[in-house]
Amino acid sequence: MAIILVTNDDGVHAAGLAALAAALEDLGEVWVIAPEREQSACGHALTLHRPLKVDRVRERWFAVNGTPSDCVNLGVLGFLPERPALVASGINHGSNLADDVTYSGTVSAAMEGTLLGVPSVAISLLADGDLAEAGRVARLVATRLLVEGLPRQTLLNVNVPPGVAKGVRVARLGHRVYEEKIVEHTDPRGRAFYWIGGGEPQWHEPEGTDMAAVHDGYVSLTPVHLDLTHHRVLAGMADWSTTLTAQLLRDPARKHRRSATE
Ligand code: MN
Repeated sequence: MAIILVTNDDGVHAAGLAALAAALEDLGEVWVIAPEREQSACGHALTLHRPLKVDRVRERWFAVNGTPSDCVNLGVLGFLPERPALVASGINHGSNLADDVTYSGTVSAAMEGTLLGVPSVAISLLADGDLAEAGRVARLVATRLLVEGLPRQTLLNVNVPPGVAKGVRVARLGHRVYEEKIVEHTDPRGRAFYWIGGGEPQWHEPEGTDMAAVHDGYVSLTPVHLDLTHHRVLAGMADWSTTLTAQLLRDPARKHRRSATE
């Protein structure tokens, strides 16, 4: 039976994690490796400067004093009895839409699985959403992923709207704008301090985006590519190599330095 690695960023005791593990239970041998504490918005952080501790919670459930990416690394690179066939991250408490995927620990866990060559999916549930509904969606998506896999360097980002979903829409990532950039206050000692993320986010919801889909009451499915290279721009930058090389070589300040190839 294929191993399914389940993780999250809300921590090993989160209700969404249990809901996801339960939803996938008969699709494979589900193993849970999750952060011992909430790690939301931790991004793609890896713990490299201290040892990781793995505590057994119960059979095939483990808590790690690290990030979601740490959990996936542990799972895929040797802690599990074999390589997982799928990494499923979630069910996150709250959406991971648009640009937020770059901050999200939930999505980063799926990024890590993808980088390690395992088909990976992140599932998030909007505020006031129904975990049972999100579990049903996760199960349908995972069933298909276990058969079809995903293209290289591609993860699937799933957001489930509140209530009963009207259906499923494949959608691109939207773009978020925060109206208030920074909130500044003064502490009791007269020093300024700042909140980011304090303002209400303004959502552009153009047709075809993940935000529009969930706004309309649909589940959004977004394939996210980890190759951040902009290939069209790259092709148009060919002359940068020659021009900047010539300028660099002409710089008199570096003429006494040996080049790497000398
Ligand atoms: Mn979270």
